[in-house]
Amino acid sequence: GSPITASSIDQLAQQHFPLCMKSLHVNLRKNNHLKHFGRLQYTLFLKGIGLSLEECILFWRQGFKGKTDDEFNSQYKYNIRHAYGEVGGDVNRRGKGYTPYSCQKILGDSNPGIGQTHGCPYRHYSVDNLVGFLQATGVSDKEVLRGVREDVGKMRYHIACNRVFEATHKNEIKKVKEDGSWSQTDLDTIVHPNTYFKRSFLLKQ
Ligand code: SF4
Repeated sequence: GSPITASSIDQLAQQHFPLCMKSLHVNLRKNNHLKHFGRLQYTLFLKGIGLSLEECILFWRQGFKGKTDDEFNSQYKYNIRHAYGEVGGDVNRRGKGYTPYSCQKILGDSNPGIGQTHGCPYRHYSVDNLVGFLQATGVSDKEVLRGVREDVGKMRYHIACNRVFEATHKNEIKKVKEDGSWSQTDLDTIVHPNTYFKRSFLLKQ
């Protein structure tokens, strides 16, 4: 089976998630809750990294600490199963569910409102909050942070994200380039949060 379980998400988030999903994860842990669009964005991402439906339900159940089982089952469980395609009216999605969101989709969605945490931090955080969050996740190189500010100023959000990926995987990228095990295509610009995860996961094996 998949090595990815509810209990491994904390560690995976820290090591391999792009900032959009780190933001959702940190907010979930802080508030023991996420609003609808954040839950949807995060659930589909988790599905995309290979978390099974059962483990995903367990992940959210454990995450929503203040809720009773009844509340959880009646308010949240259905949407998770729906995202995975287990329930719902659309026969075409039966068994497949919804596709994890691309950067384009996340960047193009309407701005998160008060208390909402979905979206892309490169686009939807103030630049000072963005830099603060990057530093909190361990990105402290001044050149990198300066580059991020510049990218964001030019509205090149996913370029900023790729810059951070490259900086945080510098040694691993150097190695696979040198030993020829990865081609340039394997290192193309990342335009999907699930690609970010997968590439990070493979590089840091
Ligand atoms: Fe997530 Fe894409 Fe934004 Fe990176 S650019 S944080 S992967 S939405």
